[in-house]
Amino acid sequence: MINGIKPLERSLRWGMVGGGGTSQIGYIHRSAALRDGTFTLLAGAFDIDVSRGRSFGQSLGVAADRCYPDYATLFREEAARAEGIEAVSIATPNNTHFAICQAALEAGLHVVCEKPLCFTAEEAQRLVELSQRRHKIIGVTYGYSGHQLILQARQMIADGLLGDIRIINMQFSHGFHAAPVEQENPSTRWRVDPRFVGPSYVLGDLATHPLFLAETMVPQLKIKRLMCSRQSFVKTRAPLEDNAYVLMEYDNGAVGSMWCSAVNSGSMHGQKVRIVGEKASLEWWDEQPNQLRFEVQGEPVRILERGMPYLDHAALADDRIGGGHPEGLFEAWSNLYRRFALAMDATDRRDEAFLADFWYPDVHAGAMGVRWVENCVRSADAGASWVEFR
Ligand code: NAD
Repeated sequence: MINGIKPLERSLRWGMVGGGGTSQIGYIHRSAALRDGTFTLLAGAFDIDVSRGRSFGQSLGVAADRCYPDYATLFREEAARAEGIEAVSIATPNNTHFAICQAALEAGLHVVCEKPLCFTAEEAQRLVELSQRRHKIIGVTYGYSGHQLILQARQMIADGLLGDIRIINMQFSHGFHAAPVEQENPSTRWRVDPRFVGPSYVLGDLATHPLFLAETMVPQLKIKRLMCSRQSFVKTRAPLEDNAYVLMEYDNGAVGSMWCSAVNSGSMHGQKVRIVGEKASLEWWDEQPNQLRFEVQGEPVRILERGMPYLDHAALADDRIGGGHPEGLFEAWSNLYRRFALAMDATDRRDEAFLADFWYPDVHAGAMGVRWVENCVRSADAGASWVEFR
């Protein structure tokens, strides 16, 4: 169990790009990174508005001369300091991720990047190669994967409790954008503008989350081909979709489906993964993240509870309070940031043995999400036809 003792002797010197005072996601990054003492926030280019970013950074306790006007200055000035930052988190709109990631790696920094990592598989591959060449990690904030029961599901599937996997049913379908809220809300406005989000809206913004959860639970399955149909129910969002269905075929004969939507009226989040095997199924909903349904054919349903001793040690390793007390998204993100810190430290020490057996959402996970979106768009734009996954 995590008990507050620092998992590393050092605390990584850390900065942020984006995640400013008006952003949706900046606070959970800081809360997660700072929770276990693995990171110390020392610098940032927090906001596209320079003076707002400066005063926000200072209000967080960052020295005035380390609140920079932009990421290029941040990386250059920090590299020139004896005790400059060692890692940076990128929490800006999607169109900036590739350039900022690339600049950060080139400046010798470890990176935590928001999803989607970039827009094309080719860009993603360049980031994979650059991170390998520079011996720096890119962690991707697929935040829900920090919930402990995801690793419980992974272990149960690896232990054969479901038998061969037949069906993977994924969805992330909320209702918050059922109306054109982007007319009033700047955080939504860029999400439906191709200049900021590239080729997709909900496929990249939402579906990549349950896709990664399923990949974590069943890492051995590879998508062979897929078919995607996408719609813009709020017409002004076209060509970007606010709803999509994807069918997938996997290399072992299994099939999968994804429903991602921002127009599922009335739904708060609607993110779930259901894995169906020949003997049993597992189902996890992010609105009840402390419970995992285990359904064996012909037996009563079992609800596995987070933090209980009957869980696998992989699921208990990140437990922070024990069973019964609910944990939530803030703890899940803290678990990921703790893992990012351990991966950064092991990478700096060239500890290949540690890294070989250490799970976290890495650059390959980020690249896979980008490839998947690219394939979905290719299929949708070809009239919802089946395409080989490449
Ligand atoms: P937002 O529009 O609410 O905030 C963006 C922030 O970035 C603002 O502070 C803005 O001033 C700043 N910014 C913009 N361009 C910048 C630049 N060039 N340099 C420095 N700062 C800049 O957006 P958000 O909802 O916080 O989303 C940010 C990112 O986080 C997106 O990529 C989004 O997909 C992702 N996100 C991920 C999750 C998740 O669960 N992992 C959830 C929400 C958002």
